[in-house]
Amino acid sequence: CGIIGYVGSGRQPAQEVLLDGLERLEYRGYDSAGIAVANSTLDVHKRSGELSALENSLADREFNGAVGIGHTRWSTHGSPSHENAHPHTDCEGRVAVVHNGIISNADALRAELVEAGHRFESETDTEVVPHLMRVFLDDGAEPEAAFERALDRLEGSYAIAAVVADSDAIYASRRQSPLVVGLGEKERYLASDVPAFIEHTDRVIYLEDGQFVRLTPGNVAVTDGNGSLVDPTVESIDWDP
Ligand code: GLU
Repeated sequence: CGIIGYVGSGRQPAQEVLLDGLERLEYRGYDSAGIAVANSTLDVHKRSGELSALENSLADREFNGAVGIGHTRWSTHGSPSHENAHPHTDCEGRVAVVHNGIISNADALRAELVEAGHRFESETDTEVVPHLMRVFLDDGAEPEAAFERALDRLEGSYAIAAVVADSDAIYASRRQSPLVVGLGEKERYLASDVPAFIEHTDRVIYLEDGQFVRLTPGNVAVTDGNGSLVDPTVESIDWDP
């Protein structure tokens, strides 16, 4: 339902920005929430119910890292539960993914992955994505290529963001579900909706259907479905937070 992403260079811990962003997306409604912070490994934390349950469970824990993604879920595949809350990961927790929308061929993809030995932990359509990425990473693909190849297999609608352990980037894309990038000073934001990061920046790039973006603290690389770089339009928005 709601997506927030943040890549920084250490000025603010990702965890704080992500939890703030999720609070600002609460108005969309949700049944569970979670975050993933990337460093040499991935720290993933989620809770069903109110966002305050997630915040309280993190009250005396600070995940170390300046890159992360967060999600508030409005379930479409699988009950509202802790296991089904996003982010979802591959078997070894090297890839974490948040997703809005519906992957309509998830059952077929899941059957194929289970056949190949993957073990699933949730009932969501989303969980096929980190497992697919893992297949391509194991194949030797770089994270960006693994993300694109995984999304190539999907049918349906989505806004998706992924982080990978040991990488300072967020990989994201959309199809029929909104996703917007926010530009800060050596910081980049990603969200399903502007209010999630408007307190930090009003310079935005609205992603178009079928585009991919790789966000790092100093760069935003937008590509089209054929892998060609796109020169995106940066807009300054007038928003009363
Ligand atoms: N289809 C996904 C799920 O049920 C995403 C739902 C959403 O957009 O929050 O987990």
